Amino acid sequence: MSHRIVHSRLSRRRLIGGAASASLALIATPAVIRATVAQSWRSGNPFSLGVASGTPRADGFVLWTRLAPEPLSDNPDTPGGMSGGDVTLRYEIATDEAMANLVRHGEATAERAFGYSLHLDLAGLEPGRPYWYRFSSGEAQSPIGRASTLPAAGTALDKLRYGYVSCSNYEHGYFSGYRHLTDENPEFVLFLGDYIYETIEENRPIVRRHSDGVEASTLPTYRNRYAQYRLDPDLARLHAQVPAIVTWDDHEVQNDYADKWSEYFDDPAQFLLRRAAAYQAFYEHMPVRPIVSHPEGPRMRVYDRFTVGDLIEISLLDGRQYRSREACYRAPNKGGGHLETNAGCPERLDPGRTMIGFDQEAWLYSNLAHSKAQWNLIAQDVLMAQLREKQDGVDSFWTDDWDGYPANRARLLRHIHDSKVANPVIASGDIHSFLANDLKLDFDDAKSPIVATEFVGTSISSYGPPYDPIVQALPDNPHIHFFESRRRGYVVVDLQRDKMQVRMRAVSDAHDPKASIETLKTYTIESGRPGVVEA
Ligand code: FE
Ligand code: CA
Repeated sequence: MSHRIVHSRLSRRRLIGGAASASLALIATPAVIRATVAQSWRSGNPFSLGVASGTPRADGFVLWTRLAPEPLSDNPDTPGGMSGGDVTLRYEIATDEAMANLVRHGEATAERAFGYSLHLDLAGLEPGRPYWYRFSSGEAQSPIGRASTLPAAGTALDKLRYGYVSCSNYEHGYFSGYRHLTDENPEFVLFLGDYIYETIEENRPIVRRHSDGVEASTLPTYRNRYAQYRLDPDLARLHAQVPAIVTWDDHEVQNDYADKWSEYFDDPAQFLLRRAAAYQAFYEHMPVRPIVSHPEGPRMRVYDRFTVGDLIEISLLDGRQYRSREACYRAPNKGGGHLETNAGCPERLDPGRTMIGFDQEAWLYSNLAHSKAQWNLIAQDVLMAQLREKQDGVDSFWTDDWDGYPANRARLLRHIHDSKVANPVIASGDIHSFLANDLKLDFDDAKSPIVATEFVGTSISSYGPPYDPIVQALPDNPHIHFFESRRRGYVVVDLQRDKMQVRMRAVSDAHDPKASIETLKTYTIESGRPGVVEA
């Protein structure tokens, strides 16, 4: 595995090396280029995995596809059924859905070293408008996708709709939530993590099987997982229609990992090889920026900032890559999430521990300090509010979410409070439950000010945690105004200058591929007044 990744890094560096060498190559080997453009694709549809747009900015976005005529091929030498060198594709971008008014066209490269994925980072487009695009190779054409640029930073914008999602376990259910979110025409969708699950379900009911039947842990098996998810028609349509802004959580790599520490506290050097494979597969399947987010061995940058007119600035965090290892390892094999008491686990309270890493934390504070937006969203993977639970009658806290890193959370909330960040809101995933939370400087002091408001989306399909124990804990957590772990779905936000309306949308049954949708709860935050208010 490692030698494959090293090889990939080298070839990428060569590609980045400069337009001059690329055009020399074009001149030197025209026959090869022609041959790849004129592929006849007898072995299947190279665009089986569809198209995606994402990482939108005011003047551009990233367009994505990955060539895979045999999308679930598990031959490591022929990813997606592809062999041979890089493939040149033609791309077209238009201002209309019928692709009649072309504004850009050209050639772009599907890289062999990255599973024949293509990341086309476009700039110089008009702000705040939709575009349509497609790729072609020989006689094969991709579906037409829709992309859009963001309204330019600082320009007046009086409304915006976006959605956020997390935790789509293919085995646990169908992706009706993705289908209904597409139908709501959001400007973009935030993916907050657990986009795939590396695991194989062994205990609970499943509606469909991860096709290879193995836990993903290598580049071919992670690739296989993403490919299978992208074959889902509801997810494929979401990506073709709605720009994606993506971060990750644990299951893109391994349950409850933290930086170089697996949930079993395995040899970190070995785990980093697995992480490198997982991060590369994530890169290969997501519309992320090809330079900024390019994986370098086990490192890949996903945290990012998005400014949408003068209305909202989004800080998208990476809550996994830089975190301190999970507190209080319990042998055997318990380095991941578990409940700990204060007396039993002083490590959890150590002020030197970090959830997001000190560099990302400084970057976040800089964003917040410089933001001129009316609203400031922090979009990230796991529950931020404190959740005090009883274990054997003693107050306990879960070590895998922000409760595992309370000093970092306290610094963040203190910073938001002291620097008077305008209308701070937190979007979270991971816990497979809807929650509406007041975030307070001191969660245990009723008089402590509310600093920000957190709305946790539930899962698209992953099973929720047991309902009753957490409901029984709610009286000990008065800042949590709503909890529901029995429903699957997503969150849609309708934002105006003076208020944010948050709708928790729940599917009728994630085991029904034709599930209907309903609004479970609606909340409205008024500008200048943090805190949960049911509308
Ligand atoms: Fe999850
Ligand atoms: Ca998770």
